[in-house]
Amino acid sequence: MPKTSAAKSGAASAVRKEQSVRIAIVGTGFAGLGMAIRLKQAGVDDFLILEKAGDVGGTWRDNHYPGCACDVQSHLYSFSFAPNPEWSRMFSPQPEIWNYLRKCTEQFGLRPYIQFDSEVQSAQWDEKAGVWRVQLSGGRTLTANVLISGMGGLSRPAYPVGVKGLEKFQGKTFHSQDWDHDYDLKGKRVAVIGTGASAIQFVPQIQKQVARLDLYQRTPPWILPKPDRKVSDFEHKLFKAVPLTQRLFRGAIYAMMETRVLGFTINPKIMNLVKRIALRHIHHHIKDPELRAKLTPDYTVGCKRVLISDDYYPALAKANVEVISSGIKEVRANSIIGQDGTERAVDAIIYGTGFHATDPMPKGVLFGRGGRDIVDAWKDGPEAYKGTTVAGFPNLFLIVGPNTGLGHNSMVYMIESQVNYVMDALRKMETRKLRSVDVKPDVQARFNTKIQEQLSHAVWTAGGCKSWYLHPSGKNTSLWPGFTFSFRRQLKHFDLGDYLAEAATEQKPVRAAKSKLVGEAA
Ligand SMILES: Cc1cc2nc3c(=O)[nH]c(=O)nc-3n(C[C@H](O)[C@H](O)[C@H](O)COP(=O)(O)OP(=O)(O)OC[C@H]3O[C@@H](n4cnc5c(N)ncnc54)[C@H](O)[C@@H]3O)c2cc1C
Repeated sequence: MPKTSAAKSGAASAVRKEQSVRIAIVGTGFAGLGMAIRLKQAGVDDFLILEKAGDVGGTWRDNHYPGCACDVQSHLYSFSFAPNPEWSRMFSPQPEIWNYLRKCTEQFGLRPYIQFDSEVQSAQWDEKAGVWRVQLSGGRTLTANVLISGMGGLSRPAYPVGVKGLEKFQGKTFHSQDWDHDYDLKGKRVAVIGTGASAIQFVPQIQKQVARLDLYQRTPPWILPKPDRKVSDFEHKLFKAVPLTQRLFRGAIYAMMETRVLGFTINPKIMNLVKRIALRHIHHHIKDPELRAKLTPDYTVGCKRVLISDDYYPALAKANVEVISSGIKEVRANSIIGQDGTERAVDAIIYGTGFHATDPMPKGVLFGRGGRDIVDAWKDGPEAYKGTTVAGFPNLFLIVGPNTGLGHNSMVYMIESQVNYVMDALRKMETRKLRSVDVKPDVQARFNTKIQEQLSHAVWTAGGCKSWYLHPSGKNTSLWPGFTFSFRRQLKHFDLGDYLAEAATEQKPVRAAKSKLVGEAA
């Protein structure tokens, strides 16, 4: 079978209307790039990557608010196969992570495979032809035997809903993900809505510039001291000269993070120790008892994402900051009225309100067998088999799908585990000459019953809070309920027995590029 290069077909796309490719990957964050790198390493090159933006990077291209950084150590929050000995800090700032992803794109020769400014507007499984029919922005179309989504779990910004008068506000507004760096905050009266992971990073940065900062808080997060520091010159040299030392360091961080699962899922009492550290952190920085009370959560540590920061509490203790925990009654043209009846004049509102985590896929984008929208299939909350495949959606793989999120470790580890699974699926499809694989509905149902059972005892459900991990149905559709090494083990092999597999026929052959997938250890 001739080798079809996506690079070649990509270049030709400018003149051709419809492209046909074996594998289409959507997105260029850690998921899309990680998947593409593994395919390339396996000798597959009949794939392309569709990216709606004009550059790679996903989360780390789009979130450029002041203070944006990872909250899992960079030595771990990076690809295992592409260590970076040059991280400047333990928790690197956003520009460095974005640069890392751009460097990986070059290092692994991915640019020719990427079609930028190519938003997947819809993808429909064509039963007869056994392909995904993809509609791209600009009226272009594409068919792919296999569709791999790396569209991101936290990439659609969420805005406050049901706030009276918000649309009447005449000042400046933007979401943390769409930070407007041209808007000068100096001397302005600014309201920040939300106190999650993004807000606690940007609030200390803007507090120094603004005239006043009104921080609207629904529920305070538990915050621990951030074990951040510069990576020393000695460490840089050591990691470069003896790469094994960086691997060992990564392993040690991984093991340390993984122990936190014990507190989250097995015995929430372990969280009492963490609570003591967090309370000391508040007491150390916040001397005013009234403010301290507002900032002290009343739910079990871990129920909402545990955050880390050394500069958030000191910023909140400053005279130009007010924490308002009574809620918003109404927004007017140039002010916000709190539930306490106080009217506060503001020039700008910044939304630190996070993302659509439990409804990551908009309606009208993915249609499986019989034209069923995935959003309808997920009306009781998103669910998949092993976080990756969805019954009725053949040859679709979701990287960072339902219940693959983590409250305690690096998402890159989960992404690499899912990539292993997809690689094994593709390998088996190729060796057995399969046109399609579709997870059996009962297999998916059993898997989800089991993980929901495990999650029902975990701190995220039983810890007495409402968080973005929980779907309105009450189910936790975001998180993996246990150790990440258990996830990796479960995704090591793609078991065809779990799938309805359709063989390719003479009339409907599976398009297969010449690759090294066949013959590799399954
Ligand atoms: C501010 C912030 C900090 C975070 N910090 C950490 C951390 O420290 N540790 C951790 O483990 N996790 C962290 N996360 C979670 C983070 O999202 C994941 O770790 C990881 O980056 C997800 O990668 P991804 O490739 O799945 O998605 P994304 O990085 O979101 O990439 C999705 C890509 O798909 C593209 N796309 C989406 N829809 C379409 C479409 N229809 N057509 C074409 N292209 C499309 C987007 O443009 C984007 O490039 C953080 C998240 C945020 C928002």
